[in-house]
Amino acid sequence: MSDACIFCRIVSGTIPAALVASNAHAVAFRDVHPQAPSHLLVIPRRHVASLSEATDGGELGALLLLAAEVARAEGLESTGYRVVANTGNDGGQTVHHLHLHVLGGRAMHWPPG
Ligand code: AMP
Repeated sequence: MSDACIFCRIVSGTIPAALVASNAHAVAFRDVHPQAPSHLLVIPRRHVASLSEATDGGELGALLLLAAEVARAEGLESTGYRVVANTGNDGGQTVHHLHLHVLGGRAMHWPPG
């Protein structure tokens, strides 16, 4: 837990978020600036700065399973969705607590911008 980290503060409940689901390792909530009709973030409860710093396969598995669970709950399974982990500067990461974006409800484009 880092007091300076906005996502740690969401996990601890000291700042509000639209929580949608959680498991032992991970928490899911709605992105405050949605880029698609469904835009959720899935984060580890522990402070892990980015995918590059991740070491715990069980924790990463829990993140992916929760991403699939929230996509299912959003009704995205039949139409499809995208899971993204922006990592580092070139990856476009702005919040330095590992997170998976789950985006759906519209067709995604490739290559991404
Ligand atoms: P990234 O650019 O991949 O690091 O993504 C960070 C995401 O966090 C952005 O999509 C932001 O809109 C989102 N975000 C930042 N602060 C909050 C917050 N307090 N609640 C929900 N989403 C947030």
